[in-house]
Amino acid sequence: GSMWSKVEMAPPDPILGVAVEYNKDPSPKKVNLGIGAYRDDNGKPLVLKCVREAERKIANDESMNKEYLPIQGLESFLSQTSKIIFGDESPAIKEQRVAVVQSLSGTGALRLAAEFIALDPSWGNHHTIFKKAGLQTKTYKYLSPDMSLDFDGMKSDVQAAPKGSIFIFHTIAHNPTGVDLSHDQWKEIAKVCQEKEHIIIFDTAYQGYATGDLESDAWAVKYFAHEMKMELFVTQSYSKNFGLYGERIGALNVLCNDAETAVKVQSQLKGVIRPMYSSPQLHGARLVSTVLSDNKLKDLWKVELKQMSQRITEMRSALVRELTACQCPFPNEKFSSWNHIVKQIGMFAYTGLSAQQCAVLTQEHHIYCTKNGRFSMAGVNPGLS
Ligand code: PLP
Repeated sequence: GSMWSKVEMAPPDPILGVAVEYNKDPSPKKVNLGIGAYRDDNGKPLVLKCVREAERKIANDESMNKEYLPIQGLESFLSQTSKIIFGDESPAIKEQRVAVVQSLSGTGALRLAAEFIALDPSWGNHHTIFKKAGLQTKTYKYLSPDMSLDFDGMKSDVQAAPKGSIFIFHTIAHNPTGVDLSHDQWKEIAKVCQEKEHIIIFDTAYQGYATGDLESDAWAVKYFAHEMKMELFVTQSYSKNFGLYGERIGALNVLCNDAETAVKVQSQLKGVIRPMYSSPQLHGARLVSTVLSDNKLKDLWKVELKQMSQRITEMRSALVRELTACQCPFPNEKFSSWNHIVKQIGMFAYTGLSAQQCAVLTQEHHIYCTKNGRFSMAGVNPGLS
C-alpha cells in the first residue's frame, strides 16, 4: 500500500470540473458555457493581434534573455500596470504611493493580498481580526431574488461589519451576477467603508469587459483612491482583457497614504513572494509591457478589447431574442422575462436557472454551465442558433 492510500479523493473544482465533463461528451452539438474565457464567433479561443505582434517583437529581439526576474517582477510591466487601473494622470502614482508587485494573475494577486494582511506586523489589529475569523470568509448581501442589486442589504452588511473588516469588492463586471453598483451607490459604500476603517480589496479581473473602455471600468477604484483618498488593495488580472489566461499575468497594487510606506509595503510583499515562488514568470509580463509601451499596439489592444466586449453584448441580446421567440419558460415564478440577461454586464449571464435545470440543459441539450446557472456569454456564438 502507499503511504498516502488513506488520502481521500478531493472534490472536483466546481468551475473547472465543468470542462472535464464537457470534454467527455462526444456530441457535436455540445457547448461549453462553464469557462470564463473569451471565444470568437466560431466558438474558438482568441489570441489578440496585439499579443501576436508583441510575441513577434519579443522573439526577434536578441537582447531579451531569459534571466530570473526580480522578486517584484518586470519593472517595465510594473510601471505600466498601475496606470491601467489608477489612470495615466493618477496623483497616487505621481506621488509614488502605490506599492506594486507582479503576480500569478488575479488569483495570485488576491492570495498575496491575503498573505500580506495576515503577515504584516504593522497591521496588528487587522491581523487579529483575520485570525479571529479563523481565516474564514463571510459573504455580504449582494443580489436580490429578482436579480437586481440588493444595495440596502449590501450597505447594511458593510455598516454592520466590525471596524476594520476586510471587504473584497469586484471593481467591475461582477462575477457571477453581472450586476454592478452605480456611481452613486459606490459613493455611499465608500463613505461607510471610510467611516468604519474597512480594508478594501478591489478585485479587477474584467477591466474593459463592462463598458469596453478601460477608463470607465476603473471608475470605482479611482473614486476610492483619488476622491476619497483611501488606502486600498487593487488586484489586476490580464487573463480576460488581454486573453493571456495561461500566461498567468497580473499584479497587486497597494495604495498607501505616503511614498515611504509604499516602499516598506513592497518590501513586505517581496518577503511573502520569495518563500512562496521566489520570483514571477517573465513572458506574460513582457507581452503586456511590450503592448503597453508601444502606442500603436496599445491602441490595437483597446480596439480588440472593445470588440470582445461588444460581441458578448450582442450575444446577450441574441440569446434573449431566441429565448423569447421560442417562448422558453422562465427559470421560476419570480421572473416575467429574460431581460435580466441583457441588463447584466461583463462576461457572464446569471440566468436564475437552478442546479436541476442546468443538469437538464447538459443531459438533454449538451449545454455545459456551472451549477449556479452562470453562463459564460463568450461561449455563445451565432452558429448555435
Ligand atoms: N477574480 C474574479 C472575480 C474572477 O472571475 C477571476 C477569474 O475568473 C479572477 C479573479 C482571477 O482570474 P486569474 O487568476 O485567471 O487572473
